[in-house]
Amino acid sequence: MAALAASAVLPSGAAAEDLVRASGPGDPEGPRVETATNARKVYYRAEESIKLYYRVTDPKPVEVKIDLINDSSGRVIETWRPPPVESDEVQRVRWRGVIDGDLRRDGRYRFRLTAEDSQGFTSSSAAEGDRDRDAFRFYRNYFPVRGRHTYGDGFGAGRGHRGQDVFADCGTDLQAARGGTVQTRAYHSAAGYYLVIDGKKTKVDYVYMHLRRPSPRREGERVRTGQRLGNVGQSGNASGCHLHFELWSGPGWYEGGDAFDATPSLKYWDSYS
Ligand SMILES: [Zn+2]
Repeated sequence: MAALAASAVLPSGAAAEDLVRASGPGDPEGPRVETATNARKVYYRAEESIKLYYRVTDPKPVEVKIDLINDSSGRVIETWRPPPVESDEVQRVRWRGVIDGDLRRDGRYRFRLTAEDSQGFTSSSAAEGDRDRDAFRFYRNYFPVRGRHTYGDGFGAGRGHRGQDVFADCGTDLQAARGGTVQTRAYHSAAGYYLVIDGKKTKVDYVYMHLRRPSPRREGERVRTGQRLGNVGQSGNASGCHLHFELWSGPGWYEGGDAFDATPSLKYWDSYS
């Protein structure tokens, strides 16, 4: 039995020799096609978004079509048709998780490239049913506590607790669950050093409390998903180092929104990131 065709994941900056030869159907005379991606898992508004690297080899420039496929529906949700591609040069397309202004759902996606030469001979990177080649997972959020942790009090616990506590060693890195704009960075006797981030492409505000020290992020600063926000601490009214995390519905934190239960979201993010 033939093994499923391999695909490659490259660190940033593609090395042509690491691209993988096409495994999809095509004409024997069709252009040579190679592809690779830069990641298997990407996050919306993170430092790195998903890229497909590709190279075609043919005597003349080649027409290329790149489809982005939603794995759960099998549907093509985006198509790129770059100008005719020169032979033997590594090219790339990038997807940031948004189509026609709409942020797409968490899930599995994949690229498929079809090349057609000046005589009409074609080659494709992957077979229709190949769900692994140049596939990746896309997520809108990231788990913010970057170390060993346990869950403490949740939403509504006693005293009108409006968030979820996540205990971790003092000094554990805190990273943004969702990129966006820093709306508030302040100190409060109960919250300690805290940060409110207005999440990008959502009405939700993300609130981080009891940081060890003031966050290095400034009010008005745009942060990326996964960007460092500081460290877990116990500033303010806290016993034991933990993140007190809140989610607020639009229009946001003390702007007319309401805190809602952050626990299911945190646990879901924790399951994959
Ligand atoms: Zn708390």
